[in-house]
Amino acid sequence: MDRTFRGVLRGNSGVVDTEEQPAIVSADEQWRRVLRERGLRVTRPRLRVLNVVARHPHVDAGHVARMLKSQGMSRQTVYGNLDALVSVDLLRRIEPANSPALYELRVDGDDHHHLMCRECRRVFDTDLTTDVRRRVPEPEDDDFDIDGVDVFFWGVCRDCRTGNQHV
Ligand SMILES: [Zn+2]
Ligand SMILES: [Zn+2]
Repeated sequence: MDRTFRGVLRGNSGVVDTEEQPAIVSADEQWRRVLRERGLRVTRPRLRVLNVVARHPHVDAGHVARMLKSQGMSRQTVYGNLDALVSVDLLRRIEPANSPALYELRVDGDDHHHLMCRECRRVFDTDLTTDVRRRVPEPEDDDFDIDGVDVFFWGVCRDCRTGNQHV
């Protein structure tokens, strides 16, 4: 198991380097353009929420709210903006069992999956998309139209297994 995953982990920090994410950059100018394209009003809180998620992939809503509190943003404003950004597919919400929902940028064409460490609860990205796709059931009739796959793998990360401290 471990050997299989090692080759596909994008990094061991649980944080994707934003430079690796194609197409979307965090500059406000870019966000303004993208927001308008998606039909969302450009507001300062919205830009701030986007910038936080861009810098902290797999962040939960509470954490975003804590980071923006000093800038005078209420929890409700943060939550409302996260919902709005998810609704226009700018953010992706991932919902691991027994954990708060996590947010990351939605990058077109990238529907990577996640590994979560049962012990430290850090989330890692994995590129297992094609393998997983191949296992998606082909519905035999038109009752169900599959338009996405969201897979969570559970395990224990190397730091937790070896007792290493992580950041
Ligand atoms: Zn761990
Ligand atoms: Zn991710």
